[in-house]
Amino acid sequence: MTTTPTFRDPAPRGLCTDCGVSRMQDPSACGKACQFIKPDYPTLETRVHGQAAKDIGDARFFGVSHAMYRAALTPARAGAQWTGLTTRLAEQLLECGKIDAVLTMVPDPSDRWRPQPAIITNAADMSEARGMRMGYAPLLALLEPAAAAGHKRIAVIGIPCQVYALRALEASLGFERIYVIGTPCSDNTTTENFHSFLARLTDAPETVTYLEFRADYHVELRFTDGSQRLIPFLKLPLSDLPADFFPVTCRTCIDYTNRLADITVGYMAGEGEQWLIVRNARGQEMLDGLGTEVSLATPGSRGKRAGAVKGFIENTKLAAGGLPLRRMPHWLRGIMAWLMPRVGPRGLEFARARVEMKAAETILHLRREEPAKIKNMVPDHVWNLAKPYGLLPEDGEETKD
Ligand SMILES: Cc1cc2nc3c(=O)[nH]c(=O)nc-3n(C[C@H](O)[C@H](O)[C@H](O)COP(=O)(O)OP(=O)(O)OC[C@H]3O[C@@H](n4cnc5c(N)ncnc54)[C@H](O)[C@@H]3O)c2cc1C
Ligand code: SF4
Ligand code: SF4
Repeated sequence: MTTTPTFRDPAPRGLCTDCGVSRMQDPSACGKACQFIKPDYPTLETRVHGQAAKDIGDARFFGVSHAMYRAALTPARAGAQWTGLTTRLAEQLLECGKIDAVLTMVPDPSDRWRPQPAIITNAADMSEARGMRMGYAPLLALLEPAAAAGHKRIAVIGIPCQVYALRALEASLGFERIYVIGTPCSDNTTTENFHSFLARLTDAPETVTYLEFRADYHVELRFTDGSQRLIPFLKLPLSDLPADFFPVTCRTCIDYTNRLADITVGYMAGEGEQWLIVRNARGQEMLDGLGTEVSLATPGSRGKRAGAVKGFIENTKLAAGGLPLRRMPHWLRGIMAWLMPRVGPRGLEFARARVEMKAAETILHLRREEPAKIKNMVPDHVWNLAKPYGLLPEDGEETKD
């Protein structure tokens, strides 16, 4: 069964992605739970994974990891964003009776791109949740109805800002067990803004069924008639978007790879397949449950990211300063669009590049838009990622204990 409860209106907040906490019985819990106030990753990582992420090796980029894989679910599931590993992990937990319910998003019945929070209790119904939606919806407001329905052991599928709040409140929620399946997340925006983006990409935006920013530097679009179109990143109409297209929250987000999930399911280091970060024993238990349904390989890594990251930071400084993004001449865009998938960073190096870009973006946009928040909101792991590019705390920005 799939239940889609309705919730009270959200309490007004500053930086907020409506993760659902402000709609719960005690909206003041946001003060403790919110990623955008004073996050404490080391304490929560220690509680969840048994250790805080060290500033060395790939833990520096992706957080605590017990194992990392290129991965694919076989066969890939219809309607999934990639192969459907995320929803299959939860489906398998329901099948074997380890959980009573999954808290996740299904498409809004009137708009396939709008996420709608849902409690799913039948394994077969997990197919409804497959695929990516753009926008925000109050996932964690499902916790109270799930508890009221008598569910004791649950799985939650969430993006990083939702998972941070879940972990901050976990001990007080009263569930026996929570399995946390996370996806990376970046550049989210409102569903309304996303529709206007689609309208810039095609004359028939209502026929788009799928969109993904792939690790081969292309955006893939699929259409209702089964056709597919690939657009090189450099040819996207990004510089034509209004300055507030991406909300401040998602330009200043501090956790790309969902560091507090038990298992993160993404694609960035997958080179065309999916990318798994197993972070702790519970994540390993979920992966083991899939047995031979999942193929696993060691992620590759090629190329050098520094030039791409520096170029991105220069452009972000212009954009964060309110200046228009430098536009490449059209002929050069064509050449660069051809070259990037061939010589640009690949595999883990691509994922490291994206994580460093996001850290730099966070600092530059917060400096311009919410400078007073930097000292409490930017964790050490973000400063450490930006440091090699000369982005260091300025006066008044040092993290306060
Ligand atoms: C806004 C956004 C940006 C992302 N950016 C990246 C990125 O930069 N790099 C990367 O590696 N991965 C990113 N992801 C994750 C990626 O798109 C895939 O979801 C992930 O790789 C899992 O694929 P899958 O086939 O296993 O998922 P599926 O089995 O198809 O399941 C997808 C799951 O995601 C949930 N979901 C979909 N949309 C939302 C939403 N808006 N909010 C909360 N939950 C949602 C669904 O309910 C479902 O449970 C992003 C996801 C979102 C929602
Ligand atoms: S994102 Fe969640 S925790 Fe943060 S202010 Fe909004 S509702 Fe509260
Ligand atoms: S980019 Fe960050 S803040 Fe925005 S929705 Fe994704 S996890 Fe939340």
